[in-house]
Amino acid sequence: MNRYANIFQKDATKYYGAPFDDAGAGITLRSSDLVNFRVYKVILAKASPVFKDMFSQGPAMREADEKETGTGHDQSTVFPVPEDSHTLAALLTLCYPLDPPILSTLEEMASVIAAAKKYGMDPAYKLATRTFAESQLLRERPRMAYGIMCRYRLEHEARVAARACLQKPLELDALDEELPFIDGRALRELWRYHRQCTAAVVALTQPENFGWITRRPGELWEFPQDVCRCGRLKYTIGENQARWCWWPKHWWNEYMQRANVALKDVPCGDTVTARDILRPSFQDSEVCDKCKGNLVDCMLEFSQYFADTIEAEISKIAIELPF
Ligand SMILES: [Zn+2]
Repeated sequence: MNRYANIFQKDATKYYGAPFDDAGAGITLRSSDLVNFRVYKVILAKASPVFKDMFSQGPAMREADEKETGTGHDQSTVFPVPEDSHTLAALLTLCYPLDPPILSTLEEMASVIAAAKKYGMDPAYKLATRTFAESQLLRERPRMAYGIMCRYRLEHEARVAARACLQKPLELDALDEELPFIDGRALRELWRYHRQCTAAVVALTQPENFGWITRRPGELWEFPQDVCRCGRLKYTIGENQARWCWWPKHWWNEYMQRANVALKDVPCGDTVTARDILRPSFQDSEVCDKCKGNLVDCMLEFSQYFADTIEAEISKIAIELPF
């Protein structure tokens, strides 16, 4: 059956209303749920090369949209589109000089992003995808976001969501209501990605991989070879002529052990700057008076460097998307 078969049933159509109800706007877009939007051809043609082409093509999918207006009989050419009225309203709002629409669910964000992409509406796409990337919903429900973006085959957004999934443990118990939104193959790839990222960042906490801790003179965490009451360890970093010895204090080492455990569940930079991971170092009663003076600044500085290193490591890993 023709997908547009019932779109031309004029009796069933409704009008969306303001701001898409100007008489004489010239073009009518009809949504899949039979709602008419009166729009200005020039605005849409400017916003979308796809619409521009559609308007310049023959009248294969056109009919007259005749509506009684205050000034008489108004005619407009109808173009049916497969998007529903909710998506179409948000999409058109993004193209008009209006306040951006409020996209309150992940499903809405996905449908608007997909439509903006399909119609080549670059500014609308950028705005919608940024709304998604900065949304509270992505932070709260990253697995659901990933599942929905996969369903809409939105590659960039699915990758953004997969990365956001690293901010939480990926255990079946923790998935609860998000699970129905992710199909089997998408979940398997997310699982693999999470494990791959976990392995890569946990490796950074192991002494044989301390090469990322480069000698940085002047850094508070350079830990010179001076002796104090705090226990210290010796690590040899680098190879051959680039070898150097590093003497971190016990409180640094204990921080790294806590980071190691925490990263196994939540493999992201924020894990190693979290208060719970840092606080025991700040409260360590075994720290000597000499170290006490700069321990907090030292750990804040080091943990940020560590977090940046973790994020850089994760950026090297790409999820295998299921579509
Ligand atoms: Zn000390």
